[in-house]
Parts: sequence; C-alpha cells; structure tokens
Amino acid sequence: MRNIAVIGSGTMGNGIAHTFAQFGYTVNLVDTNADALQKAVDTITKNLDRQVAKGTITETDKESTLKNLSTHTDLKAAVANVDLVVEAATENIELKLQIFKDLDAFTKPETILASNTSSISITKIASVTNRGDKIIGMHFMNPVPIMKLVEVIRGYATSDITTNIVMELSKKLDKVPVEVNDYPGFVANRILMPMINEAIYSLYEGVAGVYEIDTVMKLGMAHPMGPLQLADFIGLDVCLAILNVLHQGFGNQKYAPCPLLVNMVTAGKKGVKSGEGFYDYSNGLKEAKVAGKFNPNP
Ligand code: NAD
Repeated sequence: MRNIAVIGSGTMGNGIAHTFAQFGYTVNLVDTNADALQKAVDTITKNLDRQVAKGTITETDKESTLKNLSTHTDLKAAVANVDLVVEAATENIELKLQIFKDLDAFTKPETILASNTSSISITKIASVTNRGDKIIGMHFMNPVPIMKLVEVIRGYATSDITTNIVMELSKKLDKVPVEVNDYPGFVANRILMPMINEAIYSLYEGVAGVYEIDTVMKLGMAHPMGPLQLADFIGLDVCLAILNVLHQGFGNQKYAPCPLLVNMVTAGKKGVKSGEGFYDYSNGLKEAKVAGKFNPNP
C-alpha cells in the first residue's frame, strides 16, 4: 500500500495528507475548492516548518514530504490508481454518500475506502457501494500529525482483512489504532460531545462564563484545553453535525444540541476556522462576545 488519496483538504484533510506524506506515502489531496487546496498546502508547509524548528524532522524530511504530495480538483483522475482513499470532506451525510458512490465507480475494485467521519454510520456509507467489506472508518484526531489515536470503525460488513490492513497501516504512521463498532458517535464523540454540549448549556443558562467553564475543566480535570475552546478548535459546525447524528441515532433528548450552539453556527460563528466562536481569534486568543445567552433563573 503506497498510493493514497485524501478527499477534502480542510482542518482534517490537510493533517491526514501531511501524515501519510511524511511517512513516505504518495498522496493525492482532492478538494472541490481550489482555494482550500492552496490553503492546505500552506498549512502543511507551516506545520512542517514547525516540526523542523522543534527538531522532530529534518529539512530533507520536509522536502520529501512536500514532494510526496499533489493537489487535485478532478476526483476521478486522482483516485484511479490509489490503494486507499481516506475521505475527510464536510460532515454531511448526503455529500458523503455521493462521494462514496463516485469512489466505488472510480477506484480499482480492491481499493479500501475509509472515512474520517466523526459520527456518520460506516454501515450506511457502505450501503451505497458494492464493496461493503472494504469500507471502514479511519477516525483521526485533530491535529492529525500530533495526536496518536486512530479510532478504527468496523461497519456491519467490514471484513477482518480490511480491519487488519487499516490497523497495521495506522501503526506504520506511528499512531495507536483502537477498533470499535459502528454506532452513533462511535466511542470518541459519544463521550466527548455530550461534555461539550453540557459546557455550552452551562454558558447558555448563565451558570458561568467562558473563562470560568474552561478553567474548571482545565485545572479541575487536568484537560489540556477547556471544552469551549476545544469546540472552537473542532469547529462548531462539526460539533453541531455530530450532536444531530447522536440525537437522531439514539432518539434520546439528552443529545439535543444546545440552542446557543445552533444560533452560533447559523450566525457563521464556527470557531477557529471562521475566526470566532467562544473565543475571538483575530488577534491572539480573546474571549468573544457570545450574544443571546439565556438565563432560565434570572
Ligand atoms: P472542514 O470544513 O475543515 O473541511 C472540509 C473540506 O471538504 C473543505 O475544504 C471542503 O471544500 C471539502 N469538500 C466539500 N465537499 C467536497 C467534495 N465533494 N469533494 C472534495 N472535497 C469536498 O472539515 P473538517 O473539520 O476537516 O472535517 C472533515 C471530516 O473530518 C468530517 O467528516 C468531520 O466530521 C471529521 N473530523 C473532524 C474533526 C475536527 O476536529 N474538525 C476531527 C475528527 C474528524
């Protein structure tokens, strides 16, 4: 397995492409948006420079990583000869189903098709292809070049062979793969998102402010980042999409997204990627003005 395609060059796609390219794989990075591809190459270059400055890689490693990487807007041509596709496009089920239909048509029959989805059913994705045994979840964590975990999600029809290949491949990327089954949110987001949602509810209901909530969780629970800052980092739109999948998938009100989160995403406040969420990123890290908080017990 040498040739990889990564679909989507946003927050996750650029990190996944960076990691595979750094470990010697040839990577075709695909996006429908040419600007996003350019931004991804700039981000990867900046992150490689940071690794060189820290001494974790050499200047030669940086150059060979960039040489292993090419960018594409034509999906069909970019995936024709690859051994593995990792899809990391926007968290939207209709979009992903269409991408997997296309991938099934455009790739070699033996190509493994993985999704980096945070919450969408791998079994559902597999159902639109003719190779259910070769469809799998490969859920990297953000930032991909740094975070060790890969949550490997087996859909209902995923074969042992596909699972073993993806587990071994993850180890070759110096990651620690963990195998889980295909239920809404898998393990990572089934546990993480209710915590983030509860933090947003605590803000919305006026229990405490952004600084107080994040400080309690950082200093009290030894989390490296508070849940509101983490939500900004993940992307508030991504958090909302995952909560909607948990809510619909389990039919349980406890996963209903906080109305403040819905309002912020509707207003375009998506966190780091839009420049503002619970914090304002336009000039360092400052607390943003979060409008429309609701206090049920004024
Ligand atoms: P993002 O919004 O940063 O990037 C998505 C990219 O997909 C954009 O560049 C967009 O142009 C591109 N895209 C949209 N439609 C496309 C298509 N048809 N073909 C090719 N590219 C297309 O999103 P992200 O945060 O990188 O999330 C990507 C995936 O990774 C989602 O499934 C998300 O749930 C998952 N994920 C996100 C995080 C996180 O922390 N953000 C962590 C783990 C997994």
